[in-house]
Amino acid sequence: MNSLTVRSTACLLGLAHLLPAAAVWVWSWPAGLAVMAALHAALLGTTLRVHSTFLGSARREAPAVRGEKSVCLTIDDGPCADTGELLDLLDAHQAKAVFFLIGERAAARPDEVREILRRGHLIGNHTWTHPAGRFWSYGPRRQRREILQCQETLHGLTGRTPTLFRAPAGFRNPFNAPILRECGLEAWGWWNRGFDTRTRSIPLILRRLTRRLKPGAILLIHQGHPHHPKVLRRLLEWLTAEGWHCRLPEEPADYADV
Ligand SMILES: [Zn+2]
Repeated sequence: MNSLTVRSTACLLGLAHLLPAAAVWVWSWPAGLAVMAALHAALLGTTLRVHSTFLGSARREAPAVRGEKSVCLTIDDGPCADTGELLDLLDAHQAKAVFFLIGERAAARPDEVREILRRGHLIGNHTWTHPAGRFWSYGPRRQRREILQCQETLHGLTGRTPTLFRAPAGFRNPFNAPILRECGLEAWGWWNRGFDTRTRSIPLILRRLTRRLKPGAILLIHQGHPHHPKVLRRLLEWLTAEGWHCRLPEEPADYADV
């Protein structure tokens, strides 16, 4: 754990314990409990607000090509058996995407990870095991392990070190930002998502994805379910018909080709 992580963690834990203790000292036990409850509610609220800028922001828009109707398409949870079909669909529409990959799935499907890059797309870090229901509650040590193991696996498979990170279900907590800084990662959220793991209704998914589109908007879809190739196909058809392009973000100047 580097000093930045230690400092941030120490500050948070210190605040969570010192302020209630001070309230007990100055006022009373009930006042101390009230302060502690308020602090915990504030931390939980920050965690559950996916795009909260408190203790680190998550990007909702990618740098757009000036004057062009372009969005940034992101595909989460792969690589899966449908990766080849998705890549063919993207090629057919001359579209590029960022694939946020789960480390243990990448380790099991190395050829597909390399194929994503070979076809000109980007890969991002989506943790090692994708603990969607628990990641928000992890302390710094477990978060760091999830992020680093995925990072090292993707680097080992491709020779590239990802610079983009998306938390499972988007939920982060105050320990996340220092770890991302340490790993050279930027947190990505989304402008629109279709909730395409919760519904199979293509019209409903499309309506959610295409609502209030703007240049640079980050769109989130998934892979791995039988209806997901159809979601991508219908989305690409809609975007093409409306004159939108799917572009990659400008790669950071310090993109690490280690
Ligand atoms: Zn995911």
